[in-house]
Amino acid sequence: MSDLGEGRRMNAIVPIVLVVVLIVGTAVLVVRVGVVARRRGYELGDEVVVRCRAGHLFTTIWIPWVSFKAIRLGWVRLQHCPVGDHWTFVSPVRDSDLTDEKRRIAAQYHDRRVP
Ligand SMILES: [Zn+2]
Repeated sequence: MSDLGEGRRMNAIVPIVLVVVLIVGTAVLVVRVGVVARRRGYELGDEVVVRCRAGHLFTTIWIPWVSFKAIRLGWVRLQHCPVGDHWTFVSPVRDSDLTDEKRRIAAQYHDRRVP
């Protein structure tokens, strides 16, 4: 193969390698954030108890860096609270800070089934 052909092939391979590195790097980072959050006592997934600024408890889907219905600001999100029917900042509640009564109250309200 000529040098020109080799150069074209490398030009095609480099973007593919970059995309693969970005996807793998992002996946590793998401898993790492999940591990750190669990070590700190926070549950992640589709039944996460969160509290809004007004103190309302409800459950939501909380997956690190994945959100289509909220604006993420680090460990806090701006999203709709189904209890008070208002937009507010919400953050996860540590599992150890929840009583059975608080879990029952939070389970009564779940926002939309979209992360
Ligand atoms: Zn609220």
